Amino acid sequence: MKTALITGASRGIGAAAARLFAREGWAVAINYRNSREKAEALAAEIRQNGGTALAIGADIGDPEQVEALFCTAERELGQIEVLLNNAGIAQQKLFTDLTLSDWEELFRTDVTGVFLCCRRALPAMIRRHSGCIINISSMWGQVGASCEVHYSAAKAAVIGLTKALAKEVGPSGIRVNCIAPGVIQTEMNRSLTPETLDVLREETPLEILGTPEDIAEAALFLASSRSSFITGQVLGVNGGMII
Ligand code: NAP
Repeated sequence: MKTALITGASRGIGAAAARLFAREGWAVAINYRNSREKAEALAAEIRQNGGTALAIGADIGDPEQVEALFCTAERELGQIEVLLNNAGIAQQKLFTDLTLSDWEELFRTDVTGVFLCCRRALPAMIRRHSGCIINISSMWGQVGASCEVHYSAAKAAVIGLTKALAKEVGPSGIRVNCIAPGVIQTEMNRSLTPETLDVLREETPLEILGTPEDIAEAALFLASSRSSFITGQVLGVNGGMII
C-alpha cells in the first residue's frame, strides 16, 4: 500500500483528498494544525470504511514540527510516495493596510510550509528514484487578486517553486506539479456573501462553483501513473474562469 501525506487535511480540499486517496487504496497521513477533532474523526471514518489513515498534528511553518510529522508518518504508515502540499491560509485586506506580520504569517504557511515539506520529503524520494509532489496554488497566483496581494504573491511563488523543482528532481524520477483551483466551496471562503458567490458563479464559464472533490480528483490524477509524463505543470481547476 502506498502512502500519501496530505497537509491541511482536517477539512476542505485536504479532507476531500484524504477520503478519495483512501478510497483508492492509499494509506493517508492527515495533517492538521488546530482542528484535531475533525482530523481524528476523518481518520476514524476512513479506518471504519476499511482504509488506512492517521491524523498527525503539526504546524507546517515550523521545521521541527515538519520533521516530527514526517517521522511519525513514515514510522506508522511507511515511506511517503506522494506529498500533497495543500495546507494554506488566506486573508482579504487592502494592500496599504497590510502589516509586515500579515505578510510574514501568510508566507510562513503558504510558501515556507511548502518548502519545508518538500525539503523533508525529497531525500528519501531521490534515494528510491520514485515519488510525486503536488502543490496547491490558486488561480490568483496566476492572475492576481485585488485585496489579496500577499496571497497572490505567495501562490505565484508556489508556481515558481513547482516549475524549478520539477526541473531539478525530474532526473531523479520525481514529478512535481501544481493545481491552481478556482473558487471552491470551503471554509476558506466563508467570509464571502451569497451575493459575491453568485457574481463569481456568473463569471465562471461553467456557471458553477467548484467543490473540494473537484480538486481531490485532479490531485489523484497527478499522483497516479496516468500522469507519468506530466511534470512542472500548473493544472487549472476553475470552471474556465482563467483560461
Ligand atoms: P480551509 O478549508 O481553510 O482548510 C485549510 C487547511 O489548512 C486546514 O486543514 C488547516 O488546518 C490547514 N492549515 C492552515 N495552516 C496550517 C499550518 N500552518 N500547518 C498545518 N495545517 C495548516 O481551506 P481550503 O479551501 O480547503 O484550501 C486548501 C488549499 O487550497 C489552500 O492552500 C488554499 O490556499 C487553496 N485554495 C483554495 C481555494 C478556495 O476557493 N477554497 C481556491 C484556491 C486555492 P486546521 O484547521 O487544523 O488549522
